[in-house]
Amino acid sequence: MFSFQSIEQYHSFLAKNEDGCSTAVTHYLMEIEKKKQLNAFLEVFADEATQRAKELDAKRKDGKPLGKLHGVVVGIKDVICYKGHTVSAGSKILENFKSIYNATVVEKLLQEDAIIIGRQNCDEFAMGSSNENSAFGAVRNALDESRVPGGSSGGSAVSVQAGLAMISLGSDTGGSVRQPADFCGVVGLKPSYGRISRYGLIAYASSFDQIGIFSKTIEDAALCLEVIAGSDDFDSTVSEKPVPAYAKELAAAPKKYKLAYFKQALEHPGLDLEMKTAIYQLIDHLKAEGHTVDPIEFEFLNHIVPTYYVLTTAEASSNLSRFDAVRFGYRAPLVNPSLNDLYKASRSAGFGKEVQRRIMLGTFVLSAGYFDAYFTKAQQVRRILYNKSVDVFKDYEAIISPTVPSTAFKIGEKSDDQVAMFLADIYTVFANLVGIPAISIPLFTHANGLPFGLQIMTNHFEETKMLQLSEQLMHS
Ligand code: GLN
Repeated sequence: MFSFQSIEQYHSFLAKNEDGCSTAVTHYLMEIEKKKQLNAFLEVFADEATQRAKELDAKRKDGKPLGKLHGVVVGIKDVICYKGHTVSAGSKILENFKSIYNATVVEKLLQEDAIIIGRQNCDEFAMGSSNENSAFGAVRNALDESRVPGGSSGGSAVSVQAGLAMISLGSDTGGSVRQPADFCGVVGLKPSYGRISRYGLIAYASSFDQIGIFSKTIEDAALCLEVIAGSDDFDSTVSEKPVPAYAKELAAAPKKYKLAYFKQALEHPGLDLEMKTAIYQLIDHLKAEGHTVDPIEFEFLNHIVPTYYVLTTAEASSNLSRFDAVRFGYRAPLVNPSLNDLYKASRSAGFGKEVQRRIMLGTFVLSAGYFDAYFTKAQQVRRILYNKSVDVFKDYEAIISPTVPSTAFKIGEKSDDQVAMFLADIYTVFANLVGIPAISIPLFTHANGLPFGLQIMTNHFEETKMLQLSEQLMHS
């Protein structure tokens, strides 16, 4: 019986098993089939993955050099382009659209011998916090199928949670990796803006979007990050900074950290009381162990969600204008329509409600009479938040907080309450607004039986420190 604990353990299994990759792929294909009702995958690349596993098994047998992710079974969110495969962004407007090139992250995964097993369900165009906005049905949380897995990368989180893939790639614009990781009890990492190429990632809000990683262990996230990070001629926003050997650096000796937490974040009335107590207990425990953990003032908490939604919808309204039914994607079946009628009919039928709402909101905040009142103002707040982060990291190595204010909610519970849904993002959007790395690690279980995570944020490009601290906390 195949079982997966970590990539390292899997690699020692492969060293002893000639057909180990094939065994793993067969196992995952069976599991995906068995847990179909979770709706985590939109498409499974069964034949291809089986074939690739055979080739990788042969490669080992021939004694050829092996990639860092040799035989690792990976799922990719349905916003990441994989040549010759459908990529639909969870939307009817791109249903049956096939990518003509590989995203840089896909190239890098394949170069290091990974096996891509399928594409994973998500909220339409990555807009959502519950995975209920997918045009292809909601995803279910494997721990309680009446509950959401979080979003927008819900299918990717559930795949790791339910053992349908070893790791998954998602995207995080305001929390879409960390929030579902929190709801599903797995690790979810969003790197610094500019750490990973966005080439081949379908854009939601380009100055916020980053590809992120779901895994069972910190070490697996570190290894995957090491593979997919780094400069790219196809994305000028990626940093030229060299990529550290993140996985190896995890072995560093434990140390005492200088940590901060935002007082207003822990005192927020929306935070579940039991979660609040758990975080305060953790703070006491960390202090007792000799770490510094200080409360700091964060007077902007109530401004960050509005700022996030003004800026991301503005960027989305511009990014999503390319779906015009002329060049590609869904086209409404009209006879001799005018250009405007074609746009209107196709976009009205092709985009779901939430995406339409955001395009309209974004177009409004960018419109001539309102631009300064909304868009410019929000950009100014973004700068203030950035300055705040610079200040905090002068004195502290990391900021800790809850990842989400509540545990996974019931499917349908918040679908009619947009504001309640937006509040789920209160702790995660800060990292995207200022571009710093952040991770959710599964440290806690609520009395209701559901998991929840601790979020750790470090300064720009300090992923190594974030991973080391995470590893230390997972084992303390
Ligand atoms: N929940 C947030 C939103 O709906 C985050 C989405 C994301 O990170 N892609 O915008």
